[in-house]
Amino acid sequence: MTARRLDGAALGKTIREEVAAEVALLVADGIRPGLGVILVGEDPASEVYVRNKGRACEEAGMKSVTRRLDGTASEEEILAAVDDLNADESIHGFLVQTPLPKHVDTERVLRRVDPSKDVDGFHPLNVGKLVLGDPTAFKPATPSGVVQMLLREGIETAGAHAVIVGRSTIVGRPMANLLIQNGPGGNCTTTVCHSRSRDLPSITRQADILVVAIGRAKFVTADMVKPGAVVIDVGINRVEDATAKRGYRLVGDVDFEPVAEVASAITPVPGGVGPMTIAMLMVNTLQAVRQQAGLPVGK
Ligand code: NDP
Repeated sequence: MTARRLDGAALGKTIREEVAAEVALLVADGIRPGLGVILVGEDPASEVYVRNKGRACEEAGMKSVTRRLDGTASEEEILAAVDDLNADESIHGFLVQTPLPKHVDTERVLRRVDPSKDVDGFHPLNVGKLVLGDPTAFKPATPSGVVQMLLREGIETAGAHAVIVGRSTIVGRPMANLLIQNGPGGNCTTTVCHSRSRDLPSITRQADILVVAIGRAKFVTADMVKPGAVVIDVGINRVEDATAKRGYRLVGDVDFEPVAEVASAITPVPGGVGPMTIAMLMVNTLQAVRQQAGLPVGK
């Protein structure tokens, strides 16, 4: 491997420690930041993510609340849980874990979240603020974690051509919006690709920074990457592995070993973008506390 390994686990830990230090100051002032999660049904990946969030919150000294609803819960019951957390003064930020069951209108539920508590940044008001470059926007945690990683690893973004593969509202689109912001960690020239993009490899090969978020195991191969590019792998895919204890292991959207021979820096899966996501969710919760208290918005 020639590429530098971008260690999201270590960076995420550093950020969580910074959050814990700020939480301690807030607690001394009588404010205990609270993060809530609404979890509907029993999606195994969501269970793991929610458990990790709860643990990270408690370690940082935050209050953590998980509202669990049965997978058969009606849309009205889910909306009632959202209303509860909107009204709960001890919860500064919360999110509704997706995917929601198929019978539920996800957009309707996400729009019910009070925008001032919307730490996932999925409410249209926060999406709009992000597009406008308004610093009070809550930035979706995964792409925001990617930007933090680039900043803290000293990777120059200004003037770089960033190619993003995937246009979801959770990752691809906000990633592009962050990388074109006029400021630190931004100023990229961005290209967003998706399943209808023609001749994808010819586009990915132009990337100085290649962010991949499509959900297809080892999709990006070495011939799709420009020598010296920075490769950020957001994908999390389960592949069968009889030698693994659970019968599967996690791999990214990038074929790690061969791509690491071509790239200058690369994120592993697991241990890359994933831990940054949780750390940034906590940063967003502190942002919610500050904004609700009328304090200046931090970084
Ligand atoms: P979505 O399924 O919502 O979006 C996938 C995107 O990839 C779509 O825009 C789709 O295009 C595009 N795509 C799919 N196949 C191809 C292809 N062959 N060529 C080009 N583009 C393609 O996924 P998410 O954005 O929610 O998640 C992506 C991955 O990231 C998943 O593996 C997920 O588990 C992971 N993830 C990881 C997180 C973390 O914390 N590390 C957090 C969130 C997600 P189209 O729009 O045309 O269908």
